[in-house]
Amino acid sequence: LFSRFSPTAEDPIFKLLGQFRADQNPQKIDLGIGVYRDENGGSPIFQAVKQSEIIKLDTELEKTYIGPRGDGAYIDVIQKLIFKPQFLAANSCRLASLQTPGGSCALRMAFDLVARGHQDATVWLSNPTWQVHRPIIQASGLKTASYPYYGKATHSLAFAEMLATLASAEPGDIVLIQASCQNPTGCDMNPQQWAELTELLKKKHIVPLIDMAYHGLGNGLVEDAAGLNIMAAELPELIVSYTCSKNFGLYRDRAGLLTVLSESQKQADIIQNILVDIATGLYFTPPSHPGAVVKEILTDTALSALWKQELSDVRKRINLVRRELSYSLISLGIDAGYLADQSGMFSLLDLTYEQIVTMREKYSIYIVGSGRINIAGINSNNINYFIDSYSKVVGE
Ligand code: PMP
Repeated sequence: LFSRFSPTAEDPIFKLLGQFRADQNPQKIDLGIGVYRDENGGSPIFQAVKQSEIIKLDTELEKTYIGPRGDGAYIDVIQKLIFKPQFLAANSCRLASLQTPGGSCALRMAFDLVARGHQDATVWLSNPTWQVHRPIIQASGLKTASYPYYGKATHSLAFAEMLATLASAEPGDIVLIQASCQNPTGCDMNPQQWAELTELLKKKHIVPLIDMAYHGLGNGLVEDAAGLNIMAAELPELIVSYTCSKNFGLYRDRAGLLTVLSESQKQADIIQNILVDIATGLYFTPPSHPGAVVKEILTDTALSALWKQELSDVRKRINLVRRELSYSLISLGIDAGYLADQSGMFSLLDLTYEQIVTMREKYSIYIVGSGRINIAGINSNNINYFIDSYSKVVGE
């Protein structure tokens, strides 16, 4: 049987991480994998998470299954974090939700749900997008198409082109949008643009799938959910995939959420049962521990305040590095003003494939093939080395 299979390509980001780990150069810099790094280059566990885990260790009494839907109380606290209170008060009966093993699984569940009802739906992806979106969609058997998102020359959103392309989507198609801190461009829509896009989707009966992977890492918890809330208030149907991987630093533990907004409670009940059915077929029941840790934080006033403070520190550091990088490069005559304007962990540098290879092979600076850098990988110890190397490579 197994001789029938041919090899598949290794994930490029994990491959890059393997190369980085094997590199002996003490000046090496990893700007590849999307993990937050602090000023010392580490990824320490949030204090709020540590404290919550200690509480769990002392108080958890059983390890029985939590069931395919997950923990209802975890679902409630995440929904409160995402949606405006007024929206939830009036519409929570229209929501069907599931605790998922991370955001990737929430996405897979969303696409499997769409495929069950509408096999011919096309999922529209921004160009560029997170490189794992496409394989997840393909695993569900749905078609993909792409819409323009980023103007390379201006380093900003190609909003007019985006709207023009999406106007050709069919009713029942899905448009995948990132809520904030777009991976890989760092470019987000402003509220006016969210409203304009909402109008188009409403008119054309297109359903948005909002991927919320960096909630609170851009401009704040409320600010990063503003666009999503504009859509939720206006549209009959919407899907949200959420992950606590980045904003709680729970990457390996896998805490996510899928929430589907339907036109009525009756439809939401049907969707809820289908979601449970799909989860049962895929993994049966999600891991309990990371969701329980998040629930503890969000239901405890002191832990919640601590987490918000830590998240705010993360955000401030990212924005500080953005500004420092931008100003230093500008002072060398390099067009880098956009780095300070964008948000979240990622931005795209103007590098050719050959220059990315040179950065890696000559300077031990690891950047993914698209030119995406993890801003948080830069700190006061390595910023000068990075700027020096980058300016040499682009000046060659
Ligand atoms: N969406 C985007 C845009 C992401 O960048 C990521 C993680 N890199 C995810 C979803 C998935 O997150 P998780 O690790 O929780 O599966």
